[in-house]
Amino acid sequence: MDCLFCKIVAGDIPARKLYEDDDVIAFHDIAPQAPVHFLVIPKKHIPTLHDLSEEDDKPLAGHILFTAQRLAEQLGCEDGFRVVMNCNDLGGQTVYHIHMHVLGQRQLHWPPG
Ligand code: 5GP
Ligand code: ZN
Repeated sequence: MDCLFCKIVAGDIPARKLYEDDDVIAFHDIAPQAPVHFLVIPKKHIPTLHDLSEEDDKPLAGHILFTAQRLAEQLGCEDGFRVVMNCNDLGGQTVYHIHMHVLGQRQLHWPPG
């Protein structure tokens, strides 16, 4: 298995986990870009957003989003936060196992650059 985030799912690489259930895991980003910066990932290996299937993965996509929402609130981000999913090289993706970034507890600007 070559995927970094599959290794985190399997427990082969440690992560500071915030939440885990049968389908998703959330953990702190190793290089945080804000005081709150965590990732929510499916346990299932899906390389990019292009590979997310509307037919098969709709409940999973919702589950990722609502896990992000709940944890952001638990981590004190009720005044605002940002979710980001980078897709492919042009979108800034570096780990090819989809993940939702959640950033909060600092002023964020748009466009992100
Ligand atoms: P991407 O650029 O693919 O959207 O985001 C990948 C994210 O994964 C980056 O924010 C990076 O800091 C984070 N990351 C990379 N390797 C590790 C790791 O081993 N552990 C954790 N917790 N985060 C990682
Ligand atoms: Zn993977």
